[in-house]
Amino acid sequence: AKKYIVLNPFDGEPKKSDFAIVEEVLPELQENEFLAEAAYISVDPYQRMKLGTSYPCDMIGGQVAKVIESKNPEFPVGSWVMGHFGWRTHTVTKPENEKFSAQKPYLYKLPDFGDLPVSLALGVCGRVGNTAYFGLTEICQPKAGETVVISGAAGAVGSHVGQIAKILGCRVIGIAGSDEKCEWLVKELGFDCAANYKTTDIAKFLEENVPEGADCYFDNVGGELSSTIMSKMNKFGRVAVCGAISSYNETDPEKRKASILQFFFIGKGLKAEGFLVNRFADRNLEGINQNLKWVKEGKLKYKEHVTEGFESAVDAFIGLFRGDNIGKSIVKVK
Ligand code: NDP
Repeated sequence: AKKYIVLNPFDGEPKKSDFAIVEEVLPELQENEFLAEAAYISVDPYQRMKLGTSYPCDMIGGQVAKVIESKNPEFPVGSWVMGHFGWRTHTVTKPENEKFSAQKPYLYKLPDFGDLPVSLALGVCGRVGNTAYFGLTEICQPKAGETVVISGAAGAVGSHVGQIAKILGCRVIGIAGSDEKCEWLVKELGFDCAANYKTTDIAKFLEENVPEGADCYFDNVGGELSSTIMSKMNKFGRVAVCGAISSYNETDPEKRKASILQFFFIGKGLKAEGFLVNRFADRNLEGINQNLKWVKEGKLKYKEHVTEGFESAVDAFIGLFRGDNIGKSIVKVK
């Protein structure tokens, strides 16, 4: 068995030299335990932010794994699980070990995915999908006919949010980091329009293409771009503050400040609410099943950015902060 450890705190962008792969000896299975073999591991922006306080430490992360030995009748050999086991090839565990609290479903057996790939449990039919589903429906609460703007729009969460907003009858505008991404959003996913923030004056783009103003903003990136988008919102608009990836690699604390936003909030009476998907943990399966249903009905499309091989996981992680991925970034273990 192998696992990734993080050798030191990240300094700016994560680097290959921050990580090492080490061998791990697995313990004998005890009563109620099972051995799971990773099939897909998840690559997510939060992994940049939430590591331990002492180093070296294990790399955190979710994975879809198959049970290959078991002393737990609830998790028989052959069953698929989603577990927050970190970046490791094999895990010996039991449900009691994984339940930090009732609010955090870190281990569950996958519902029936039918013909769909089990890797979707890391994306559209998992935590990421629930972030999109609950973040949009509970925090933004868009009504049919309203306009929704999304940053990080071609990523895992953003591309999903836009499609739910379309299902709900909204006008949907995506902001993403390449022309290829914008084309995918409009031509494949049915966004009404999209702009590349790296080459476009976003204030001007919104004035010209969203003259009605935005009622909802699903914010995945924070920083200047979000400030510009919020300046073009309608009075009493709602902002779901989901992520702030534009600042995750920022080493200068001064640059992380977002005081520039306050002016718009006051003048427009905006309502912004931060959230973690864990807040909706007790509705985990409701979100997964709704997203699964939409995928099976063909109403929700998805793209997976698959990196092959356990040894390539760090490349995938670094790529996330360079915008290499369209849709959900995952690693196929073998
Ligand atoms: P993505 O699949 O969106 O991947 C990250 C994307 O972010 C990149 O592809 C890149 O796209 C964009 N990006 C990278 N650097 C910057 C930058 N400096 N400025 C603007 N965009 C940048 O990841 P996820 O969908 O998994 O996550 C999206 C956001 O949601 C993140 O901020 C994440 O932390 C947050 N999140 C929050 C959760 C919650 O519970 N609140 C749960 C899950 C995710 P591009 O080419 O467009 O720049």
